[in-house]
Amino acid sequence: MPETIVINGRSIDRGEKVLTKLVISKLPSGTVIEIPVYVFRSVHDGPVVLLMAGMHGDEVNGTEIIRRMLSKKMLYPLKGTIIAVPILNIYGFLNFSREVPDGKDVNRSFPGNREGSLASRVAYRFMKEVMPYVDYGLDFHTGGSSRENYPQIRCVLSDHKNEELAKAFAAPFVLNAPYRQGSLRKEAGKLGKSILVYETGESLRFDEKGIKTGMEGTCRVLHHLGMTANCAEAKEPTIVCQKDIWLRAKNAGLWRTTIQAGEYVKKGQLVGSITDPYGEMEVRLNAPATGYVIGLNNMPVVNQGDALLHIAF
Ligand SMILES: [Zn+2]
Repeated sequence: MPETIVINGRSIDRGEKVLTKLVISKLPSGTVIEIPVYVFRSVHDGPVVLLMAGMHGDEVNGTEIIRRMLSKKMLYPLKGTIIAVPILNIYGFLNFSREVPDGKDVNRSFPGNREGSLASRVAYRFMKEVMPYVDYGLDFHTGGSSRENYPQIRCVLSDHKNEELAKAFAAPFVLNAPYRQGSLRKEAGKLGKSILVYETGESLRFDEKGIKTGMEGTCRVLHHLGMTANCAEAKEPTIVCQKDIWLRAKNAGLWRTTIQAGEYVKKGQLVGSITDPYGEMEVRLNAPATGYVIGLNNMPVVNQGDALLHIAF
C-alpha cells in the first residue's frame, strides 16, 4: 500500500479520510467541472479498492449505492484504502445522458488522451490520477433507457482474481463478459488490476432490489479482502453463465411479454409477441436459447432489430 496517495495535487496519508476533487475542464459558461473523489485510508496495510458509479451519467443506481454506503459510513476500511467516485461523468449526470456533451462514451474512451475530446480527457485524467493506486474495483452500471438488467456481475471468469471477487460479491447472476475495447475494465486488466462491472436496473430509475443487492455485494467483497468486519449473506444462490444471446425484434410494432427479469426460459418457449397498433398483425416470439432472462426491454414500442430479451446460460 502506498504511504501517500496524491490525487489532483492533494496528498492523502494513511489514516486520513478526505474528499478531493479531480478537475477535468470548464463548461462553455466557465463553470469548472470536477469529479468528487472520496478517499478513506486505514493506518493498516491493505488493498486499494475503487468503487465507481456514473461513468454513464444517467445510470443512477450505482450513484445511489455509493451514496447510501457513504451516508451509513460503510466505507471506512479496517485496512487498506477505499476510493469512492459516486459520479464519474458529471456532464452526463447533469444532462440525464449516458455520454458526455461531444456524444462520446467515456467507457469506450480508455485509456484516454490528454489532448483528446471530453470523454477521452475524463478517461485520461482518471487513468493518470486514480488508477495507479487501485488494486481492485467495482464499476456500477445499469441497462439503457427502459432496458432493465437483473442484478448481475460481469467479468472475465478465466481471470482467477475476477472469479474470486465475483464469488465474494455473490450477485444473483455472474456473466462471463470478454473485455470491450476502450473500457476501463480492459485497460485496468492490462495493468493487472481486476475491475468487475455490476449491472442492475435501467437508466434514470432507481431499482431498490438492485441497490440493496449492490450494497450487500460490495460489503461482501470488502469483507473478503479483510476491509470490513461483517456483512449479510446473499439471499439467493449465484448462477454463473458463460454465454449470452439477445432476442431481437423481427418486426417493428408493439412488444409485450409476461416474462420477468431473472426468469428461467426454455428454448422455443413462447416469450411474447409483437403486433401492429391496429389489430391486424401479430408475430409470436420464442426464446432463442434455454437460460435466464438477465435483461428485459420494458419499452412497448420497438423498431426492427431492437433488443428485447437478454438470455444468459
Ligand atoms: Zn453503463
